[in-house]
Amino acid sequence: MEKILIIDDSIVQADVLRSIIKEDYEVSTAHTAEEGLQIAKTGQYSLILLDVIMSGTDGFTVLKELQEDAVTQRTPVILITSLTDVEHEVQGLIMGAVDYITKPFNPLVVKARVNTHVKLYRYRALIEKEAMVDELTNLANRRHYDKQCIQKWNDAIRLKIPFSVCMFDIDRFKVYNDTYGHPAGDKVIAAVAGVLSAYLRRTTDFVARYGGEEFVAIIQGGDAQTSFEHLKTIRQAVEDLHIVHSPPESPWVTISVGGITVLPKNGDVYQTYLKIADTMLYDAKRYGRNRVIWCNDSMEQWREK
Ligand code: GH3
Ligand code: MG
Ligand code: MG
Repeated sequence: MEKILIIDDSIVQADVLRSIIKEDYEVSTAHTAEEGLQIAKTGQYSLILLDVIMSGTDGFTVLKELQEDAVTQRTPVILITSLTDVEHEVQGLIMGAVDYITKPFNPLVVKARVNTHVKLYRYRALIEKEAMVDELTNLANRRHYDKQCIQKWNDAIRLKIPFSVCMFDIDRFKVYNDTYGHPAGDKVIAAVAGVLSAYLRRTTDFVARYGGEEFVAIIQGGDAQTSFEHLKTIRQAVEDLHIVHSPPESPWVTISVGGITVLPKNGDVYQTYLKIADTMLYDAKRYGRNRVIWCNDSMEQWREK
């Protein structure tokens, strides 16, 4: 059930609102601005009904704070007030409230407006998810990656933490498609993606489909040796899926992996290191595929096999 938060300093008013929508939604209530903000920031709500005039902090201030917080920025807010003057209504809408309900209200109107805004919110969330996720693999897509990599790179510079970027490519995949067909190839791409996301699941990890049968991962924290060891485990896990293939190097579907770990400094450019990771991947192919080749910013190398 979709969750709605009511922020109203009047217990009576909040109860009236709650009784109107409680059959269709899971409703939480807060009676102060501070409590309301705290609950809202759990990020679970599809809509907030916010009283404008409250003793202490008022609704406009709450609205502003909701919009400045990354977690609550997208949560739609309907302002509730007994103010009838149009200036407040305009102010609320300009500030980004999606709607405005004036007391005393008609329960059916409240219900209808709430339903509409929850529906729009759900729809928007779906569209946003689809714009970020690769349909075949459920991994982040290229567009999402393009934004995330720069953000994570800047985080690493600011926090002075090691940053690893890693490229993956399925070995001899053209032959696989030619032998078993494109739909079977798609299943392999999804299976490899499943392994990557199972082994790169920390909040500081990020993995995306880079394109075709190529993937990219970003790992924050951990030195080159640690990342290299982890990627060896992942490479082995793909081989251990035992998906039958017929390349000269292995009876199974395998991947080659290239990566680099750096401690980025102000002025360093992400693309430089992505290019190095790609060179390591190219080397992994050249040295016989199904292996990991890693390096650090001093160009010290770790090679599997
Ligand atoms: P290498 O070991 O050097 O990587 O050889 P390769 O055959 O994997 O390399 P190449 O880049 O020549 O071929 C990649 C193939 O991946 C070509 C294309 O048919 C296939 N491919 C790319 N995207 C998809 C996809 O979405 N689905 C399927 N089934 N195949 C794809
Ligand atoms: Mg390729
Ligand atoms: Mg390939």
